[in-house]
Amino acid sequence: MSENTISSAVIIGAGIFGVSTAVQLLRRGVSVTLINDGPIGNGASGRSLSWLNSARLRSNPYHLLRMAGIDRYRTLSSQIGPVDWLQFNGGLTWDPEGKGNEIEAAYAHEVSLAYDARHLAPSEVAHATPGIDSTAITGGAAIFNPGEGWVDLPSLIALLMNEFTKKGGILVTDEGKAHVLVENGRAIGVKTTADKSRLADAVLLATGSAVPAMAADLGETIVDGTPVALLLTTKPFDHPLKAVLNTPRVAVRPTPDGGFAIDADWAADEVEAQPDGSYEVAQTTVDGLLTEASKVLSGHPKLELASYAAGRKPIPGDGDPVLGALPNLPGCHVAFSHSGATLGLIVGELTAYEMATGKRHPLLATFRPERFTK
Ligand SMILES: Cc1cc2nc3c(=O)[nH]c(=O)nc-3n(C[C@H](O)[C@H](O)[C@H](O)COP(=O)(O)OP(=O)(O)OC[C@H]3O[C@@H](n4cnc5c(N)ncnc54)[C@H](O)[C@@H]3O)c2cc1C
Repeated sequence: MSENTISSAVIIGAGIFGVSTAVQLLRRGVSVTLINDGPIGNGASGRSLSWLNSARLRSNPYHLLRMAGIDRYRTLSSQIGPVDWLQFNGGLTWDPEGKGNEIEAAYAHEVSLAYDARHLAPSEVAHATPGIDSTAITGGAAIFNPGEGWVDLPSLIALLMNEFTKKGGILVTDEGKAHVLVENGRAIGVKTTADKSRLADAVLLATGSAVPAMAADLGETIVDGTPVALLLTTKPFDHPLKAVLNTPRVAVRPTPDGGFAIDADWAADEVEAQPDGSYEVAQTTVDGLLTEASKVLSGHPKLELASYAAGRKPIPGDGDPVLGALPNLPGCHVAFSHSGATLGLIVGELTAYEMATGKRHPLLATFRPERFTK
């Protein structure tokens, strides 16, 4: 039985949140137009490390949402069968020596939540997961989380867009940027730079790092903490690493083609944003990241660069997801979050539920945009 209170929606932004919500709305029988300012997935979703996890310390509501996110990936995985772009081979993490080391606290917290976690001495790591140089592990211990994994978001987006097209969704990628049309205090559709308007019963802003500025244009406050990020990929080569590694100097995960994706906060801090909107990445930064990755891998392989991409990584000012209807603009919803790979499927599902039914899902209670104005 349909619970829908709308029949049409326009979504601005075809990253994982926009695409995932679009497909969920179509499954509910809502007609959808999806507008992106260029090829789909050309934002953060096209250059993400995409570790699927709820590791370490965070609020219980956020943990619950992330676990629901991982659950939806498990379901997808069993529905589509084995693919090279969605893997659950665990995650291994360790911290630096000394004061900043949170491994004991993180492990105790994870155990208290029954989040599958193994506390390992460096010498025990090889039994849990292959491909790591255990002498690189600092702080005397690591945590292995066997239930974690990674996804290649462009592959997921391609799968979802296949369903989007089959279900009659309309995709617009050649009209430049879109903005929300407002009439009598309500969102009534969107207008693109090409001056074309599309009216709909509900609008979703899923524009990644552009959400806070677009919300501000509509008179709404979403505090922004978005930094610049950098992701490298290596050429394929033969190596046993299967898990996602999160270490003090580098994060590494396998890629579908047999290479690795690599990032690190220190490397992102070295990227310089240019006035024309481009990003300058120094050769020393690229070389440094490849070196750091090699140090944590068994056999210290020589890693060859395949590609790199820099750009903004959506992160709300308080670190928590911003999801739901804008408080002062009926008909307009937002989806803006860090960890959008882990949350990609569940955010699409719950956002579509709220847009289609007009109801508020209890799991999103602490993530609503009005927290910034209260
Ligand atoms: C280096 C890096 C590492 C990451 N690591 C992880 C991780 O390990 N685990 C995890 O869960 N998450 C991770 N993330 C986060 C995750 O990738 C993002 O949260 C997620 O991809 C965001 O998706 P999105 O749909 O919100 O935004 P985006 O993918 O940025 O999509 C927004 C789209 O909107 C378009 N757009 C913007 N403004 C307009 C406009 N006005 N009109 C039309 N189109 C517009 C953009 O071009 C873009 O295509 C990482 C991200 C990065 C960059």
